[in-house]
Amino acid sequence: MLNLNDPLEKLVKSKKKTKSIEKLNGANIFTIKDLLWCFPLRAFPTPSLKAFSSIREDELFKGEGIVQGVRVTPSFQKGKGRVNLSNISATVRDRHSDETITLQWFNAYPGIRQKIQGAQGAKVIFMGKPGEFKGKLQIVTPDLINEEDKDEQKFIVQYPTINGLASQYTKKLFDLIPEDLIGHYEEYLDHEFLNKNKMLSLPESFLVFHGKGINPINYSPTLKEMARKRLVFEEFFVEQLKFNIRKKDRIQEKAPIFKGHKLNASFQLFPFELTEDQKKVLNEIQKDFGAGTPMARLIQGDVGSGKTAIAILASLMITEHHQQVALMCPTEALASQHFKTFQEILGSKEVKIELLLGGLKIKQKNEIYSKLENGEVDIIIGTHALFQDAVKFKNLALAIIDEQHKFGVNQRIKLVSKGEGCHSLLLTATPIPRSLSLTNYGDLDISVIKSMPSNRKKIQTRIVPPDNFEKFLRFLNTRISMGEQAYIVVPAIEENPELDIATLDKVTERFKGFFPKIKIASLHGQMNGDDKLEVFHQFLKNESQLLISTSVIEVGINNPNATVMALLNPERFGLSSIHQLRGRVGRGGKPGFCFLIIDKVSLANTPRLKAIESTQDGFEISEADLEIRGQGDLFGTNQSGGVIRKVANIIEDQDILFLVRDNLSKLLRNPIVKRKAEEIEKEKYVLNTV
Ligand code: ADP
Ligand code: MG
Repeated sequence: MLNLNDPLEKLVKSKKKTKSIEKLNGANIFTIKDLLWCFPLRAFPTPSLKAFSSIREDELFKGEGIVQGVRVTPSFQKGKGRVNLSNISATVRDRHSDETITLQWFNAYPGIRQKIQGAQGAKVIFMGKPGEFKGKLQIVTPDLINEEDKDEQKFIVQYPTINGLASQYTKKLFDLIPEDLIGHYEEYLDHEFLNKNKMLSLPESFLVFHGKGINPINYSPTLKEMARKRLVFEEFFVEQLKFNIRKKDRIQEKAPIFKGHKLNASFQLFPFELTEDQKKVLNEIQKDFGAGTPMARLIQGDVGSGKTAIAILASLMITEHHQQVALMCPTEALASQHFKTFQEILGSKEVKIELLLGGLKIKQKNEIYSKLENGEVDIIIGTHALFQDAVKFKNLALAIIDEQHKFGVNQRIKLVSKGEGCHSLLLTATPIPRSLSLTNYGDLDISVIKSMPSNRKKIQTRIVPPDNFEKFLRFLNTRISMGEQAYIVVPAIEENPELDIATLDKVTERFKGFFPKIKIASLHGQMNGDDKLEVFHQFLKNESQLLISTSVIEVGINNPNATVMALLNPERFGLSSIHQLRGRVGRGGKPGFCFLIIDKVSLANTPRLKAIESTQDGFEISEADLEIRGQGDLFGTNQSGGVIRKVANIIEDQDILFLVRDNLSKLLRNPIVKRKAEEIEKEKYVLNTV
C-alpha cells in the first residue's frame, strides 16, 4: 500500500533512486505529497476537430485537411544511431474551403517523413499551436493523429523543468501515482463549506490540477478555478498554522486582562450608528483584551471606513481599568485632530487626554512626561515624540498606531515595549505591500473593514486636460459658493524643499487670482508645527475655503465639509497616495469630487491615471499600482517567512486569506488539522531558521 508520505522511490518500486528522483530531491521534493504540490505550467484538454476558419494564433488547434505539397530538405544534424533527419514543410488545405496551413518539422525522424509523404493528396489529422511565419499560418512540430483517435479528447499536462528534470519525466512519475491514493489526501473542510465557497475538495483539486482521472469533456475554467481556490486555501491555511505556532512561541508574555466592558452601550457615544464591520472588529478586540496575552492586531480598512471610532472604544475599554493608552500618529495635524475627536466622544467619561507634539516647549513636555509617569494621563495622543526615551508610563496597556505603514517596525516595538504585556492595535488603509504581506506581520492578527459608513458618497474622479481647466474652475466656484470647501494638492518635491514651497506659493498666487473673493490658505511640510496646526484649524472651521497644500494632508485629515480635491501634476503622485488623498473628500454625506489636473493632453491616457479614475477600491488600486510598478521589488521572491507560495497570490487571493483567518480557530479543533499542526510543529527547526 502506498502512502502520500512515502518517498518517491516507492512509486518506481525500486530501492535505488532513479536519476529523475535524484533531481527532484535536489529541489526538495522527496515524498509523493511533495510531488503533488508541483503544479503544471499548463494543463488543458485537447480541442475537438474544427474547420480551418476557426484557427487562432497560439490556441491549440486540431484539424483535418488534404496534404497538397510536401517539401523535404535534409537536415545537417543526425538523430540517435546517426539516423538521417530532415526538415519538412507540408501544405495542408481545409477540406471544405480554400484555407491552407503549413505544417513544419525541423530535424524530423524518417517515420514522420514517410507518414506525411505517404499522405500526399490524402487526408491528415494534425494538432498543434498555430503561429505566424512570413504572413502565413504554420504549426511547428504538430502531432499527427490516427483516424481512429481523431475524436478522442485527451488531457495534456506540461510540467515546468524542475532542477533540470524535463517535463515529460515529471509527468511519468505523476502517471505512476494512483488516483485513489490522491483520494487519501485528508480533507478537513466539510461539503457545506466547500460548496458555499465554490471550492472542490482537496483530493479533487489535485486531480483536476494534474489532469488525473478527469474527463476532458467535463473540464472547464470554472472547474479549474474551484480547484485553484481550494489549493490557495490550503496554502494559506498551512502558512497560518505555521504562524500560529510561531506566535505561540513568542507570546509567552502575560498581559493584563480587560473584561466586562459593555460595548453596546458605548456604541451610543457616537452621533452615528457604527457599521457592522466596526462592531465586528471591536468585538474581536474585546476578546483579545480578555485573553491574557498581548494583542497584536492590525486593522485594515479603506480610507474613511471609520477606524478612529475603533481606536476610541478600544481606548475606553482600557482606561476604565485605570490603565494607559498611547495613540501615535505620523503627523501633528492628525494627532491634534484625533485629540479633538477623542475629547468630543469621550467627553462624558472621566478620561484625561493629553496631546504630545514635537513642537511643544520643554516645560510643557516635562509636565506631560511627569503626568504620564504618575498616571495622571489616561490617553496620550502624539507623534513620533511618543516613543522617545524620555516618555515613560505608569501603566501603558495599549499602544495604538494610526496609519501604521508610516512607521517602521522598530518604532512600533519601541512604543509597545513601554508597557508590560502591552496590547497593540495598528490601523492602516494601505493593504499593500506591507500590511498584507504577512512576511513582516506573520504573527499579527488582521481584521478587515470592508463596509463603508452608509452616508459615504462615491467620490467621482476625473482627469482634467488643459482644455477643461476653465470648466474645472467654474465647478470649483459653484461648490464653494454652496458653502463647501476644497483642497488643491501639489506634488511634494522631497529632494528640494525650497522648490516645494516655491511651487506651492506659485499655485497659491494663481488661485488667488482665480478666486479673489475667497479665503485661500496654504500648507506645506516645512512650516513649523504651530503654524501648520493653525492653518489646519482654520480650514476645519471653514475660515478658509480653499486649502492649497503638499501631500502632508494625505493621512487621516477629516473635514466633512470638504467636497473637492484637485491634484496638480497627478502623474507625480503614487496611486495609493492619490487614493488616500481623495479619501479626504466626500466624508460628510455630500458627494466628493477628485480632479486630476494634467498639463499635457498626452497624460490623459496613462494607465496609472486611468486606473485611479476608474476604480474606488483601495485594494484594486494597490493592485494596479503593483501591476504597473511590477511586483518584483516589492515582494522580492514569492517567499514569505520561509513559505513559498505556489498557487496563492497574496494580492489576488486576499479573500481566501481572510476566509482562512476567519475559520482558523474553528478549524483548529478538527482532529485532522490538529494532526497537521503537530506534524508542522515537529518541523519547527525549519521555521526557526527563517
Ligand atoms: P479612517 O478609517 O480613514 O481613519 P475615520 O475614522 O477618520 O476614517 O472616519 C471618517 C469619517 O467617517 C469621520 O468623519 C467619522 O466620523 C465618520 N464615520 C465613522 N464611522 C461612521 C459610521 N459608522 N457612520 C457614519 N459616519 C462614520
Ligand atoms: Mg484615520
